[in-house]
Amino acid sequence: MSDGDILAFDVHPHAHPTSPAERAARLVNPGFGKVFTDHMVTLRYADGKGWHDGRVEARAPIPMDPASAVLHYAQEIFEGLKAYALPDGGVSLFRPEANARRFQRSADRLAMPRLPEQAFLDSIAALVEIDREWIPTAEGGSLYLRPFMFASEVFLGVRPAQEYLYVLIASPAGAYFSGGVKPVTLWVSEDYARAAPGGTGAAKCGGNYAASLAPQAAAIAQGCDQVVFLDAVEHRYVEELGGMNVFFVYDDGTVVTPALTGTILEGITRESILTLARRAGHEVRERQVSFDEWRADAASGRLREVFACGTAAVVTPIGAVKWAGGEFRAGGAEPGPVTMALRQSLLDLQRGVAPDPDGWVYRVR
Ligand SMILES: *Cc1c(COP(=O)(O)O)cnc(C)c1O
Repeated sequence: MSDGDILAFDVHPHAHPTSPAERAARLVNPGFGKVFTDHMVTLRYADGKGWHDGRVEARAPIPMDPASAVLHYAQEIFEGLKAYALPDGGVSLFRPEANARRFQRSADRLAMPRLPEQAFLDSIAALVEIDREWIPTAEGGSLYLRPFMFASEVFLGVRPAQEYLYVLIASPAGAYFSGGVKPVTLWVSEDYARAAPGGTGAAKCGGNYAASLAPQAAAIAQGCDQVVFLDAVEHRYVEELGGMNVFFVYDDGTVVTPALTGTILEGITRESILTLARRAGHEVRERQVSFDEWRADAASGRLREVFACGTAAVVTPIGAVKWAGGEFRAGGAEPGPVTMALRQSLLDLQRGVAPDPDGWVYRVR
């Protein structure tokens, strides 16, 4: 199968799907990443054969040999996006083509085969279709989709694997903030880094997350919700959180986010907010922001709001910031008016209740 080919997924429906009553019970308070739908998509790759054996099937454990390459050298990448129930009964995705392209860039960096964009999109449409009853319709709910790919070849040699498995699973998610948007507190990690120049920081791979867990645990130990990473070379410039990009809003209305220097994950939410902020009349800048500058501008009052963003939490205001040298308030008011306005315009777009001039809403049915 090459780019442009239409790949059909053989559909093998679950023999004993969850009953409507049981499903309704699980959808009452799904939280995040704990409840899963009845089906999954699998697709195999082998050198010389290409992509093959696409299936929509009952969600089940994946048999795995203990010598599967991913278990030893972590050749694994993933994506995360949401399906939304629309007011008219349809289902939409938000910019899934951007996820498909990022999945290809991540594959390039991890020396894995590229999944054709159309196969990525078709796998999602197929799973959403068969598991459509699992999409929460409650306010703020969505079906979180998790495409991932790993080296499945049984081989302990150190080289790119010759066999891969692509899998797509889906997990109903409730509103990230139940009971109103709450600011998160950050711990500034000065002894750990998330990603180094030339490393895998711009790829969405599980290994980056493995490396972020100890610093995240350090943040929790400091009484904070999330870690914020500085650059690995000078330990001066703000990069991002473990899984969210960061934005600064100044008193003159300027909206700033750290420039993509190869060590920051290119968030689709980040890119969407840059566009929405520009359209709302804000001056928008991608540039380096040092931690010293952050503290100084927070102290002077020039910095008004700070927020983090990503698919899971959409937009999250940042409250207090702690570091080895003390604690300060990230910006001014929290949650700030610019933060909340950008959050609302993104949510309205994703839920299909706002005009969509850029064609970001992708209907699957
Ligand atoms: C996925 C991810 C983000 C957010 O990306 P979105 O496309 O906006 O969901 C930010 N940082 C890291 C490290 C990520 O893995």
